[in-house]
Amino acid sequence: MAKCVSCKKSAQIKIAFAPFCESCFLKHYQNRVERLIKKFKLIKEKDKILVAVSGGKDSMSCAHVLSKFRQRFKFEMGVLHIDVGVSDCTNENTENIIRDFCNEYKVPFYLLKIKEYLGLDIKEVSKKIRRPICSICGMVKRYALNKFARENGFNKIATGHCADDITLLFFKNWFSYYFDWIAKFKPIMPSNHPKIVTRIRPLFECLEEENLTYVKLNKIKIAGCSKYSYSVRKDKLKEILKLIDSKKPDFKINFVRALERVEIKVKEPDSIKECIKCGEPTDKEICGVCRLKM
Ligand code: SF4
Ligand code: ZN
Repeated sequence: MAKCVSCKKSAQIKIAFAPFCESCFLKHYQNRVERLIKKFKLIKEKDKILVAVSGGKDSMSCAHVLSKFRQRFKFEMGVLHIDVGVSDCTNENTENIIRDFCNEYKVPFYLLKIKEYLGLDIKEVSKKIRRPICSICGMVKRYALNKFARENGFNKIATGHCADDITLLFFKNWFSYYFDWIAKFKPIMPSNHPKIVTRIRPLFECLEEENLTYVKLNKIKIAGCSKYSYSVRKDKLKEILKLIDSKKPDFKINFVRALERVEIKVKEPDSIKECIKCGEPTDKEICGVCRLKM
């Protein structure tokens, strides 16, 4: 039987290339997140951090591990769940799972319903303009998350993006020549406009399988996957990355660590203005969300 890389007792878990026993895995996971927080100064004393939680393993791990660090780093946190108004993705069950988590770990819980908050029916808009529902949803969620955080006094937003997401998004954007997006793939994206809230990604160096193991070992309930994200899961690039993983299990970790070091210079980005309709930050005259409403 494999031995834990840390304590040499028998290992029950094998993550990427390293076997761990349960307690060493949990220490290893928390240490990795803590090192990243310190290295990139993700959190400062008195920060008010809003964690965006969908109910999946990544965002639940992010909320859990941050809740454990509240005293150490002396910050406040809240959890926001965005109900996108698509019942396959968000429903009462997801909401209850997150609400129960927040009660258990004493974290304020916020629920934002896109239909009420922005007066926007994502499913309807997707049909009307014939654009994939997930691409509209992603943009609308980013908008709502930033607006809600700012309006409620949060100075940072934390998301559960992990090494798998970052690697996949890197190549997707790379092949589409969206280099200005790639330049933002860092553990911290500081605010560059008074209306934009700083974003942090505490799980930047964690793998999806580590997050899954983390929630299982901590007995954290998670919400199931949605039918819409199926197309994402069947993604060709994701399959290619899986293949690389099988040959080189440390690929994604090394890749994101390299990304941390590299500075991608993009041509002068368009300056950020305020939308003439809603006042939210945008690089156009009218922001993407207001254009959806037109
Ligand atoms: Fe939105 Fe698509 Fe995710 Fe559902 S699967 S929450 S529609 S991005
Ligand atoms: Zn607008």
